Amino acid sequence: MRILLVEDDTLLGEGLYAGLQRENYSLDWIKNGETALIAMLETAYDAVILDIGLPKMSGLDVLRQARSEGNKLPVLILTARDAVSDRVDGLDAGADDYLVKPFEFSELCARLRALTRRARGLTEQLIRYKNIQIDPAAHSVKLNNQQVELSRREFSLLEELLSNIGRVLSKAQLEEKLYSWGDEIGSNTIEVHIHHLRKKFGSEFIKTVRGVGYIVAKES
Ligand code: CA
Repeated sequence: MRILLVEDDTLLGEGLYAGLQRENYSLDWIKNGETALIAMLETAYDAVILDIGLPKMSGLDVLRQARSEGNKLPVLILTARDAVSDRVDGLDAGADDYLVKPFEFSELCARLRALTRRARGLTEQLIRYKNIQIDPAAHSVKLNNQQVELSRREFSLLEELLSNIGRVLSKAQLEEKLYSWGDEIGSNTIEVHIHHLRKKFGSEFIKTVRGVGYIVAKES
């Protein structure tokens, strides 16, 4: 999953960036409102963490502008003050959730998981498909109740595929979710990850749709 982090405070931003990377998210970190708006409009993020007090354009203005252009990305705002008005304005501007600084990192993660789950129309914490079970919070994957070791990208790819059962995902869509700006992506990177997943979970469950992408078919 790919997250946009918008935070101008270097110390807090660095902490969040490192922490969210450990949580397996692909991340882009932006420190001003203007660039954040462009990023939101151009990239299919799974969620946006948006600080309110930002240089160039406030988080609230970014959000209002994005929503007025029809942008539906899940947005969690960070408000510096424990002021009700900030939170109310944020929610009215189209935020899906908020956190008041200072907050616990674990709470941010839980809220992000809830937000992305809702956005994907999933009601359960665990993602299940046949004999495969993913626990996004614990970053664990089981096949027939046995733990399977996956790399960060393999985990993200599997999570992406199993969150979109019955839908074809193109290579470009998958790359967008697995990588951040500045990451080196080889031309066959996704194929290599798919190959590894097939080796670990069986060759059948991820189908290649020639010239289009990959799909995990609905359970029959
Ligand atoms: Ca700030």
